[in-house]
Amino acid sequence: MSRVELNTLRKEFGETTALDGITLSVADGEFLVLVGPSGCGKSTLLRTISGLETQTAGDISVDGEIVNTTPPKERGVAMVFQNYALYPHMSARRNMTFGLGSHGSFTDDEIAQMVSEVAATLGIGELLDRRPGELSGGEKQRVAMGRALLREPELFLLDEPLSNLDAKLRDEMRTELTHLHDEIDATTIYVTHDQTEALTLGDRVAVMNNGQIEQVDPPQQLYDVPASQFVAEFIGSPQMNLFEGNVTATNGRLHVERGRFSTTVPGSPQTVDGGRFTVGVRPEDLYLADEAAGQQYSDPCELRVELSETLGDSVVLYATDGETTFRVRTGARQQFGTGDVVSVVADPERLHLFDTDTGVAVYHSGTGPPAARAVTRQ
Ligand code: ATP
Repeated sequence: MSRVELNTLRKEFGETTALDGITLSVADGEFLVLVGPSGCGKSTLLRTISGLETQTAGDISVDGEIVNTTPPKERGVAMVFQNYALYPHMSARRNMTFGLGSHGSFTDDEIAQMVSEVAATLGIGELLDRRPGELSGGEKQRVAMGRALLREPELFLLDEPLSNLDAKLRDEMRTELTHLHDEIDATTIYVTHDQTEALTLGDRVAVMNNGQIEQVDPPQQLYDVPASQFVAEFIGSPQMNLFEGNVTATNGRLHVERGRFSTTVPGSPQTVDGGRFTVGVRPEDLYLADEAAGQQYSDPCELRVELSETLGDSVVLYATDGETTFRVRTGARQQFGTGDVVSVVADPERLHLFDTDTGVAVYHSGTGPPAARAVTRQ
């Protein structure tokens, strides 16, 4: 296991700043996921930690030792790339074992035993004699994973390792990865642009944007208490409803208004005087008035259905008050047609407020002001 510390890490490619001052600690044995949109710097960060790229400025340390100039081979790192990086002329078995027996570290029998165990875990036992050209994308990906696992690394760096698998296999491999991590206990840094993968796999998730880390937190904290509008929009599907609202605080209550939508939240923050605010409410925190009967929710707001999406376990309505289209997640098996009018209420304990100019979260109802919680914003 390894503890990794990054201190104001910077990486420039000519005019492009790929990493813009990354400070992050990854604990011994932790599974940390880096998530963010394409081009935000995830792969560059992983490659810089591995030593394949050299940082322009800042420090990387592993177990307290600075490794800024340590060659990749000496960092105790195994990396699985998005594009597999397999040798085309070698069988899957040879790709996995290449270099393992050097320096007499393992006997041939030991290697054969290790390969059959890892191959069984990854479901590639039957494919070991094939070359990469005879394997599907998903199979190549698993061979690359096997090669990394056989190295029993202290630090495991994975760059979108499941991106080429079909949905069913991806689900299975996600579960398998969690088991593997529990078993081998190696510190793992995992890159993905898929927020579901990030939330399901990570002990903590770091959300990146434009070469910076916006927030690092456990998955539920990230979802419930996003530190910025960017994180709120990126995490959660369907996306959080966000709209600029008229926000006032009087007599210890916060009043939010936008067109026909209005709600009052008990317990008002002091931070809302005078600024411009964007209000956030997740689709599952909006209810059809019938569903919420008896709850202390906002005044009903009449919306016209534009589109209804069936997800199987729920239905997502896109419904408008003429100015704003709201996403509303309702129970399964309800039938709505375009033009239907629905009466919608909000749970006032689940509202989020962001400073419209900076995007920084200023208030989350029901959870107290952001400063009181362990949100890390860098
Ligand atoms: P994706 O999810 O699409 O793989 P990413 O978040 O991993 O994206 P990076 O590949 O780290 O993003 O790229 C970050 C930025 O650095 C991008 O603007 C990219 O174009 C740039 N970049 C990355 N590698 C190089 C390179 N070798 N030369 C020049 N620019 C690069």
